[in-house]
Formats: sequence, structure tokens, C-alpha cells
Amino acid sequence: MTEFEIKRAHMVKNHIQARGISDKRLLEAMRTVERQKFVPEHQKAYAYEDHPLPIGLEQTISQPYIVAEMTNTLKIKKTDRVLEIGTGSGYQAAILSQLAAEVYTVERIKPLLEKAQRVFKTCGYTNIHTLHSDGTLGWSDYSPFDAIMVTAAAPKLPQTLVDQLAVGGRMVIPVGDRSVQSLVEIYKDQQGVHVKDYSLVRFVPLIGQHGWKG
Ligand code: SAM
Repeated sequence: MTEFEIKRAHMVKNHIQARGISDKRLLEAMRTVERQKFVPEHQKAYAYEDHPLPIGLEQTISQPYIVAEMTNTLKIKKTDRVLEIGTGSGYQAAILSQLAAEVYTVERIKPLLEKAQRVFKTCGYTNIHTLHSDGTLGWSDYSPFDAIMVTAAAPKLPQTLVDQLAVGGRMVIPVGDRSVQSLVEIYKDQQGVHVKDYSLVRFVPLIGQHGWKG
């Protein structure tokens, strides 16, 4: 085993499984995706510690446990088409790509998206589709989605994204003020939309037409 493989196995056991995540496919995805490839060179030594890391341009790669918790909430099936808003480093999209049929990910900062695209190519992730745009508008060309994950903090639930969720679809998004938010879980069925808050988090702001002003 390489040093990174050992650290990754340790991270999954001590920070993900130990905190109650037991979904086998998700744990396997977290054991497989090489987080060190998604962080800047000088951060690689810290890639398997359970905290967010800076990725440049005032943005972050999320804490591994939060990636696992949000992914777990979405209960992704092999046939699902998933929309992610906030590609950032691309790590979360890579985890989703192991679980879903197709992943559509939108990022507003072009250099970050270009870097993530290069990593996807190097790693051979062919089911991740990328768009440089304001993700608060979603990606209507490919909607409706079975699951939507927003990885930046919104002041309120963007209706555009709820509209792009399929009936039977699940969504997770941090909603609150700029310093602290609740993770909000949304489930859409024939009757409408069901909303549940479940934990406090701290994300960078979702900036756009239906988010914070830049
Ligand atoms: N999912 C990312 C990862 O795995 O590295 C972490 C995302 S980082 C916490 C939040 C990202 O959301 C940033 O890259 C930021 O530029 C992006 N973002 C903020 N507002 C956005 C918007 N309206 N549309 C698309 N991306 C946005």
C-alpha cells in the first residue's frame, strides 16, 4: 500500500465509519477517490485529515466527513443523474461519479473548473459533465435530476433548483447566513416538497442570481 492509500483507509475508518456512516458503496467510493489529487501541491500532506483545505481563489475543498454526510443524505442509486452546484476542486463530483450514472457539476470560477476538469481527465472519470455558469440557475438542459447537491451556502432555498428536481428526487443544500448555516434536506414527491434541517455547517457563499450578491 502507498502512503496515501494507508492515510485514506485510516480517514475512512476513523472519520467516516466511526461517525456512523455505514453505506458500503459510499465507503468504497471514499476509499477509492484520491483526495490528494484534488488539493494544491503544498496541501497534499494534509489531504486525509478531516478538515476543509484552501484550494485558491478564496474557496475550499470540503471536510471529508461533510462530503460523506451530504452524499449519504442523497441515497444515490446507480441509475441516478445528479447535479452538483459548486465544483470547486472536483472531489465531491468524483465521489458522486462512483455512485451515480451521470454527474453534472457547475462552477462559477473558471480557473477552478478548468483545474477540476484536468483532474477528472487524468483520473479517467468519464461520467462527469462540467459547466462554467451561475449554478443558482441549475442546468436546465439536463433536468430533471434524481439528486441535487449544493456545496456553497445559500441565503434561501433557490426555487430554480427545486424546479429541476425530479419527482422522487432528493436535494441537500446549506441554507443560512454568511457565517453559519443548516444543512437542509429536500424530498420531492407527488404531493410537493418536504424540507428538513439536520445539522449546522459553515460553507463559502453561493454567489449568483438566486444566491448572495458577489
Ligand atoms: N464541492 C467542492 C469540492 O469538492 O471541492 C467544494 C466546493 S466549495 C466549498 C464551494 C464552491 O462553490 C466554490 O468553488 C465556489 O466558487 C462555488 N460557487 C459559489 N457560488 C456558485 C454559483 N452560483 N454557481 C456555481 N458555483 C458556485
